[in-house]
Amino acid sequence: CIPLEEVHGWIILFENVTEEFNLQKLKREFISNASHEFKTPLAIIKGYIETLLDNNFSYEKQNEFLLKIRSNIDRLNNIIDDVITLNKLEDYKDLFVFRLSNIKMIIDNCVEILKPAAKKQNIRIINEIEDNFEIVIPPDLFEILVYNLIDNAIKYNEENGYVKIIGRMIENAFELRVSDSGVGVPPSEHDKIFQRFYTVNKSRSREKGGTGLGLSIVKHSVIIMKGNISVTNNPEGKGSLFTVSIPVIDNEKE
Ligand code: ADP
Repeated sequence: CIPLEEVHGWIILFENVTEEFNLQKLKREFISNASHEFKTPLAIIKGYIETLLDNNFSYEKQNEFLLKIRSNIDRLNNIIDDVITLNKLEDYKDLFVFRLSNIKMIIDNCVEILKPAAKKQNIRIINEIEDNFEIVIPPDLFEILVYNLIDNAIKYNEENGYVKIIGRMIENAFELRVSDSGVGVPPSEHDKIFQRFYTVNKSRSREKGGTGLGLSIVKHSVIIMKGNISVTNNPEGKGSLFTVSIPVIDNEKE
């Protein structure tokens, strides 16, 4: 230990921990919201099981309760899948590698998976991106983003509606536009819908199998790609238009 008379000065270190503090706060809020979202379907499942155990219902009634139990298990599954995806985006973002990717093919893959849902409401999905359109992006991350946007465009659409996907280069950025002919997003909600678990209409979202996390996943994907996203009313009529802009790395520097 140095004698005090030999001490000539002090060094005081300040560390700004605001970012870390805010991150921890966000995580705490997220865990609390997620627990709440898990509890609702669990309580419903428990309620139906107890009713079934306590009473002698007809076969039809039992079936009706079992279907409700199944749909709430599906809901739990959807929430867990979305929480896992969000966690992956936050903690393992370096896993997503930028490489030359065929945009049209990625979008076609998503459309293929979502076709049955679109067919139920007779919704047309129009992918206007050119066949050989390639840019340097993380393909799996871009797929997560596109899947969620098209999924929403179908979910919040109306019978015989459409979903249109357009992509083009604007200077050094790739601009993706996903528009639909659905219920649209009221302007007062445009900023809020990207927050975790935020829904404009909770019961409509639940009825459509929504979790309130789709657009947070989209927003996070966009942030990892250093881009931005916005929503407006669809200028072609009813519905909404989501515009994503992603700066593109030069193919040569890949
Ligand atoms: P959800 O799982 O509820 O769809 P999201 O995070 O994907 O959650 O979206 C948040 C909310 O934004 C939705 O509940 C819905 O109210 C609104 N929304 C998202 N996409 C659309 C769309 N294409 N048209 C109308 N409303 C939308």
